[in-house]
Formats: sequence, C-alpha cells, structure tokens
Amino acid sequence: MENLINTRRLVDTFTDLININSPSFQEGLMGDYIEARLKLSGFRVVRRQYDGSFNLIAHGKGTIKNSLPLMLSAHMDTIEPTEGIRYEVKNNIIRTIGNTVLGADDKSAVAQILEAVTALKETDVPHGGIEIVFTSAEEKGLHGAKHLDFKKIKSRHAIVLDSAGKVGKIVVAAPTHITYEMHIIGKPAHAGIEPEKGVSAIKVAAEIITKAPDGRINRETTANIGIINGGGATNVVSKQVAIRGEIRSHDPVMLKRVKNTIFSAAKSIARMRKAKVFIEEQTEYQAFRINEAEPFLRFMDEVLKECCIRPEHTLTGGGSDANILNQHGIVALNLSNGMQKVHSHEEYIHLDDLYKGSLVVLQAIRKMTGFPDRPQR
Ligand SMILES: [Zn+2]
Repeated sequence: MENLINTRRLVDTFTDLININSPSFQEGLMGDYIEARLKLSGFRVVRRQYDGSFNLIAHGKGTIKNSLPLMLSAHMDTIEPTEGIRYEVKNNIIRTIGNTVLGADDKSAVAQILEAVTALKETDVPHGGIEIVFTSAEEKGLHGAKHLDFKKIKSRHAIVLDSAGKVGKIVVAAPTHITYEMHIIGKPAHAGIEPEKGVSAIKVAAEIITKAPDGRINRETTANIGIINGGGATNVVSKQVAIRGEIRSHDPVMLKRVKNTIFSAAKSIARMRKAKVFIEEQTEYQAFRINEAEPFLRFMDEVLKECCIRPEHTLTGGGSDANILNQHGIVALNLSNGMQKVHSHEEYIHLDDLYKGSLVVLQAIRKMTGFPDRPQR
C-alpha cells in the first residue's frame, strides 16, 4: 500500500486545531476551520443547529456506483481546561506542557479524518461515498449525537475515532449508563436548643451512602456517588441533602438489580429515620455489543491488518457517540486513535499513532468499495 498520508500536513492540521479553543457548546471556530477544509476537499457541508450547539455533517459523493457509504465521526469539543493551552513537539510526541489538557481527545481524530479525506481528494482514490459527522458537546453527555437527525444519514456503517490508546483497539461493547439524583428531606431544628426535634438529612444521607454498593461491582458493572450537596448552617439540624450518582453496566439485568438495591436501601433508611427521599433517574445512553460475526467488524480487522496493525477487540466502561449511533441502527465501531492520558494535564499523542490513525481511516474508505454486506434498512 503506497503512502498517501502526509504526516507533516497532518501534524499542522492537528496543531491548528489545538490552537482553536473548543470547550463543549463553544465549537463555533472549530466548525469554521473544519468546514473550510472539507469544502476544499470537495465535500458538501451543512451545519445542523440544535439548542446549545451544532453538528457538522459533510457528504462526499462516491466515485463508484453501488458501493455502500462509510460514515466517519469524531467530536469537536474538548474537556476543560484548555484556556491558554501550551504544547510541545518533542521526541515524536505532541504533549501539553501547561496546566491544561492537550485536546487530542478528540482533535487528533478530527485531524486524522481531515488528512485522510485530503489525501483521498489529492490522489483520486475511488470510493463509495463518505459521510462525515463531527459532533459537539460529546464531553457533556453526547449532546450532538443525541440531536442528530438520523433520517439525513445514509450510512449503515460508521467508524468513530474516540477511544484512547494505541491504534488497533476496536471497542465492541459499551455499557448502559444511568444517572440519578436523590433528594433527602429531613426536619430542621435548632441544633443547640432542641436538636431532638430534628431529623438530620446529612446523617440519613451518610447512612444511604454507606449502604449503597459502589465502585466495581463486577466485571461489567460499576456504580459511583459523585456529588453531594446539602446543609445550611452549623447550628441547624440539616434539612436537605442532594446526592448525585451513576450506575453503568453492560448487562441490563445487573444494572436494574444494582439500581433497585440502591434505591430501596435509600427508601427504607429514610422511612426508618422519619425522613423523605425523592429519586429521579435518567438514562444517558444505552449499551451496545457488536457480535464477533458482524461483517463490518471483520472488515475493520482486515483494514487494520492491511495497515500492519494488530486488531484487538475490547470492552469499555465509558460511553461515546458510538452508543448513540448503534442505538439508531448504525453499526458503529469506536476505534482507538493513539491519544493517551486523555482528560489529564499529561495528555499526549505519539506522531506515529497520529499517522496510523489517519492511515486506517483512509484504508477503510478505500476498502469499503469492496464491502460485500448489503444490510437492509
Ligand atoms: Zn472523546
């Protein structure tokens, strides 16, 4: 396979993107840059607004008839802090050197996709049509993906580049993720004069937190209480506490069991202590599991091997836009693209991985013309 990826240009694109600040819901300038680049590569680009931000959807017309289109996806936003970002390129590694993240999650993926389609255009490699979806506010709860108008998307197969680690990993399963908020209402009383008349919401909360299963519950299930707010004054038996937590599992039965354990413990403790508890829950996204026999998974294995990369199928405990795409009937594989130590002040990417990630995208586009499977809608 001849080398079509221009590493120098790829690095330039990535560092251009690093210099554009794009925290969640503030992807405007990033969108402008991407749009201009995609138009240069012959793509039709539309910006689909939703309440809060927008998604960029780009279509590249195929040059081969009767071939299935391929969807490529990454998110435009980054976790914070990013203000005043400083980075260095040293020993073939691009890393953050300030008190900020690098934003390789997911700007390195955006750069890899842009380079792949630029190389494609330059060399007139035949392809069967490309749809690119750049989402927004992924980091704040997959907002862009959740607002996608799936009727406008033709592809049934997608590559999402949003998984950390060396290039080669394919995420074949991700959990369902629910969040909940528990409001515990006690009874306020003066803590010095008549504390016996009060019911401390803080003590009730403490009991509930101690009882609630958390951490790694089994290989497929985790739970966490991440936020607690409450009380008002040291001289008042606390009236109210709010607890916010989450549960994730690859197994819906297990998820339900853990949830019921936590919620019923809360209710019975509150009843026993003469407090009240109100619970609200929300499903953030649904689990998916790609079957090992899935033709698109085997296709991706081949693509990686053709790039001299050993494919590895993994489970993740995190969610990504791939959850939402799979929920909508698109076979979406989330690939690791080389970014490392994401969401930290030590975030970096090796230039070799930056290159490989782009190469994999390009090779997938080329190989898609021969993808035999014709899925029904
Ligand atoms: Zn990400």
